[in-house]
Amino acid sequence: MKSNTDFQQIERFKEDLDRCTKCGFCMASCPVYREERTEGSVARGKIMLVRALLDGEITADEMAEQLDRCTLCLACTENCPAGTRVPSVVAAARADKVRLKGLSFPYRLVYRWLLPRRRMFGYTLRLASWFQGIFLPRTEGTIRHLSFFLSALGKGRHIPQIAPRFLRQTVPEVNKPPAGVAVKYTVGYFTGCMTDFVFPELGEKIVSFLNRNGVAVVVPRGQGCCGAPVFLGAGDFATGRRMADANVKAFKELDYIITDCATCASAMKDYVRFLADTDERKRDYAAYAGRIKDITEFLVDVLKLPPSAYRVAPEYRGKTVTWHEPCHLGRYLGVREQPRQILKSIPDIKYVEMPDAARCCGMAGTFSINFYELSKKIADKKVASIAATGAGIVVTGCPGCELQLIDGTRRHNMPQKVMHIMELFE
Ligand code: SF4
Ligand code: SF4
Repeated sequence: MKSNTDFQQIERFKEDLDRCTKCGFCMASCPVYREERTEGSVARGKIMLVRALLDGEITADEMAEQLDRCTLCLACTENCPAGTRVPSVVAAARADKVRLKGLSFPYRLVYRWLLPRRRMFGYTLRLASWFQGIFLPRTEGTIRHLSFFLSALGKGRHIPQIAPRFLRQTVPEVNKPPAGVAVKYTVGYFTGCMTDFVFPELGEKIVSFLNRNGVAVVVPRGQGCCGAPVFLGAGDFATGRRMADANVKAFKELDYIITDCATCASAMKDYVRFLADTDERKRDYAAYAGRIKDITEFLVDVLKLPPSAYRVAPEYRGKTVTWHEPCHLGRYLGVREQPRQILKSIPDIKYVEMPDAARCCGMAGTFSINFYELSKKIADKKVASIAATGAGIVVTGCPGCELQLIDGTRRHNMPQKVMHIMELFE
C-alpha cells in the first residue's frame, strides 16, 4: 500500500486499516450488511475500499457512496477479533475527501455558516416553523410534520415539530435548587440541538429533576452544536474544530458537563481523537472529555440516587416500559447498566428488556436522510423488537434515536409512546 500525503487523516488511522485480517466476523453484526448483503456495505469491504483509494485504484468520489452507507454504530468493532475501528477510518476518509474536494453547496451553507451560529440557526428554524404553521396542518395525532425545507431533507418522515419556544428561552442560564435543598454539585448542561429546538420540555424536566435532587444547573449560552454532523458526518474537521473550541470555552469553569444526548456526548469525547491539532487543543479537549457524563451515568455513578428519587409522572405509573440502547451510549460511552438500573429499580413501572436492545435503529444523522429507504429497513427490525415486548412506552437516551423510533412506530401504526428516559419522571 502506498503512503499518500493527500490522505493525512486516513494515515493517522492507518493502524486500523492494517489490523483487518479479512476474517469476516464483522458481517453478522453490521446493520447495513444485514439489509444489503454486499461486500461494500460491511466493515471489511469499507477497509478494502479505503486501501484501494490509497493505492490509487479508485477515486475519492467512487469510494464515498459506499463509505457513507455506514451508521457508525461500532457493532463491527465490538465483534472484530482485531479491534479494528472502522468508524474512525470512515470519518478520516470523509475528512480527506472534504479537504481535497470541498463540501457541496447545501452542506457548506448549513454546516459552515448556519450550524456554528447558534442564534442564526435558531431564527432560521423559527422562520421555518412559522411557515409550517401557515401552510401545514398543525397536528397529526401526537406527531406533526417538520417545516417544508427540513421535511424535504427528512423525505417526509414523521418528526415532531420545531418547538414554539426553545429551551434557552424557557430556562435561565443558572438554575439553583429550591430553598431548603442543599447544593451537592454544580453542573453544566449541554443541551444539544434536538433538546434545545425540538424537545425543550425534556430539558426543562432534566433541570427541575436535578435541582430537586441538590444539583445546580448552568445552561451556558455560549454553547453550540456538538459538531457531530459536521466533522463525523460530513468530514469538515476545520469547522468542527471551531465548534469544539466554542463548547470548551463555554463550559470552562464547570466540574461536570451532563447531556441527555448520547451522540453529542460521544462526539464531544472524540474531539481529542479527531480534531486536536495542537498541544493546547489536545490538553483542552482531553480535559473537556473527562468531565462529560450522560445524564443516567451522572445520576447513578455520581449522585447515587436511591430509587425513591425517581418519581414517575402520574400518567406513566403502572405502565410497561422497554429500553432502546443507543449505539453511542452503549458501545461508544460504555453506559449500559445505568439506565437499566434506574428502570429496574422503579416500583411504579414494569420494565421489560427488549430483544436485541443494542441493535442500531438506523438513524445515524445524515445517513437516515441520504439513505432513508435503507434506514427504514434497519428501523423495521427495531420496531419488531419493540412490538415483541408488549410495552406501551419505549424510552431511550438519545433524541436522534427518539426521532427514528417515532418514525418507525408511526409508519407501522403502532401505539407506543416513544420518549427520552428522563421524560418518565415528574
Ligand atoms: S472482523 Fe475485523 S478483522 Fe475481521 S474482516 Fe471485519 S474488520 Fe476485518
Ligand atoms: S460501523 Fe456499523 S454500519 Fe458501519 S460498517 Fe461497522 S457495523 Fe456496519
